[in-house]
Amino acid sequence: MTDKTIDRPSPNFDTRSGPVDMIVLHYTGMKDCAAALDRLCDPTAKVSAHYLIDEDGTLYTLVEESMRAWHAGVACWHGQTNINGCSIGIELVNPGHEFGYRVFPESQMLRLEQLCRDIVQRHDISAARVLGHADVAPMRKQDPGELFDWRRMAAAGLALWPDVGQAGSGALRIGDANQDVVALQTALGSVGYRIAPDGAFGTETEAVVTAFQRHYRPRAVDGVADTETLAMLDGLASLFVDL
Ligand SMILES: [Zn+2]
Repeated sequence: MTDKTIDRPSPNFDTRSGPVDMIVLHYTGMKDCAAALDRLCDPTAKVSAHYLIDEDGTLYTLVEESMRAWHAGVACWHGQTNINGCSIGIELVNPGHEFGYRVFPESQMLRLEQLCRDIVQRHDISAARVLGHADVAPMRKQDPGELFDWRRMAAAGLALWPDVGQAGSGALRIGDANQDVVALQTALGSVGYRIAPDGAFGTETEAVVTAFQRHYRPRAVDGVADTETLAMLDGLASLFVDL
């Protein structure tokens, strides 16, 4: 891993109104690092992040942590919608699902862990509030996606990884409408996802289940709340009950 750090100031930021208590991880979803940096620093694009980490571990600093970077867009977690205002955004160079999604290399992961450890300590951020962009914007976003190793982050104390809980009864999928769907939606809402507990498994519920799977059940991301997905969700929800 290189420990190179390069200052690459972006004009795309404004002021924060509150403290930092969340980290949101992204992938760049562009062909290469240079293209991503150009976009994150383009005043007409109006997007940015605090940091970008290239695949070789090079860290680019774009926006001061004390300022609000523009990385999350329309997003929500535990009912809170000003995600940019409370978070630090970190972009990981990866072509993403559109341009050739691939594994995040070891050098990139090591640098990310180093950076997150530092941020978490300085801002006293809970492991429960290190999240992916898809978690806070499941209808729009897929990043950092199912190849991102959240279990590893959790082992480093930088994310949550639940023990397997109770599976519940059978799989739930789009078109289902019953009390089990209400229970599923309530559980997803209890761990932070924005979802209405209306008992109807529609496109919104499918998107949230998909985001949950990218994070906690990455081997199969299909939007179906099968018994393994339900068991992981139950395990995660029980961590929140215990808090
Ligand atoms: Zn993103």
